[in-house]
Amino acid sequence: GAERTKNVLILMSDTGGGHRASAEAIRDAFKMEFGDEYRIFVKDVWKEYTGWPLNDMERSYKFMVKHVQLWKVAFHSTSPRWIHSCYLAAIAAYYAKEVETGLMEYKPDIIISVHPLMQHIPLWVLKWQGLQKKVVFVTVITDLNSCHPTWFHPGVNRCYCPSQEVAKRALLDGLDESQTRVFGLPIRPSFARAVLSKDQLREELEMDPDLPAVLLMGGGEGMGPVKKTAMALGESLYDKEAGKPIGQLIIICGRNKTLLSTLESEEWKISVKIRGFENQMEKWMGACDCIITKAGPGTIAEALIRGLPIILNDYIPGQEKGNVPYVVDNGAGVFTRSPKETARLVAEWFSTKADELKRMSENALKLAQPEAVFDIVRDIHELAEQRGPLARIPYMLTSSFTSLI
Ligand code: UDP
Repeated sequence: GAERTKNVLILMSDTGGGHRASAEAIRDAFKMEFGDEYRIFVKDVWKEYTGWPLNDMERSYKFMVKHVQLWKVAFHSTSPRWIHSCYLAAIAAYYAKEVETGLMEYKPDIIISVHPLMQHIPLWVLKWQGLQKKVVFVTVITDLNSCHPTWFHPGVNRCYCPSQEVAKRALLDGLDESQTRVFGLPIRPSFARAVLSKDQLREELEMDPDLPAVLLMGGGEGMGPVKKTAMALGESLYDKEAGKPIGQLIIICGRNKTLLSTLESEEWKISVKIRGFENQMEKWMGACDCIITKAGPGTIAEALIRGLPIILNDYIPGQEKGNVPYVVDNGAGVFTRSPKETARLVAEWFSTKADELKRMSENALKLAQPEAVFDIVRDIHELAEQRGPLARIPYMLTSSFTSLI
């Protein structure tokens, strides 16, 4: 008989742009590969169903990354497993009921976590519900290199690691080799399957057809030294002797409205496009020749797919630090915090050092893993198939979990 549609619940949180982008990438790939076989829910469960501090994660995250020292302390002080387990145990005990209600509503056959703090609590709830053998639970890690140990939980069916480096850590942290897979970071299928040429894109985006273009951004929140870098590029990409520009600049500010309006009020000698949050990043990246960004894993992986050499100008301490050597050691880019240095580098790439730009672009393409998201959803599909034809999962609202604490 016809199999029923299976429910997939993707747990994410809107901290930065990366987790949402990964969640949407997985959702889109499921649709492309399996059509109506799966019904996908992307949910910021904590925000909807739990109280402080979990529903406030987005705000506290923004606050903490703005106050970098604080974030550093938080990241490293919660690293030892016993500390974060106790901390999470306390939160779980307090919010278990709400989390349980959230899971009840979506009745997932498969749960996919794309967030470092969304392993422990849902797995505990499943365990107390006696459902851990029936529901497939997987983690998709979205940090390229130095990731927080809360990502790793030995109770998962699969832990998808974006790099060998992360897989090694997973094994050290108690996961079994059979639980880990290395396919790469899941990137929206629109990146993997984009077909438009650079010329077409430039026309569509109303850019100069001939001048080399640099894309300047700072993740979903428009972080890092974007403004200073923009001003420096405004000078370095203008050839004073010839009296004309040697390149064009695209600045994507993401959700940073202050940045957007300050940049819009500036005067420029070169052609500059300033945008807010863009939904078609693959087009802007496809139309440019190199990128300047903080070391966000999503932006890096996307730039690699488009073959863009990367200048990393900032990173969030802790989870983004390891992304820097990943890019630099593989010859796909450079790291500098100095806006002047950045502007000088781009000007060289666009004039005397075009060969260096080309070499880095080739290295970037070697690192790219556009198929990762499809490999991940196919593997999850296989896991679900192995469970046999899924009977309707007996989700029951019980008081067992909360009453036991
Ligand atoms: N992004 C986007 N539109 C924008 C700015 C960013 O879609 O205007 C996307 C970007 O393509 C990437 C994600 O947001 O997929 C940013 O993720 P990353 O891991 O680089 O940094 P985060 O913002 O999570 O710190």
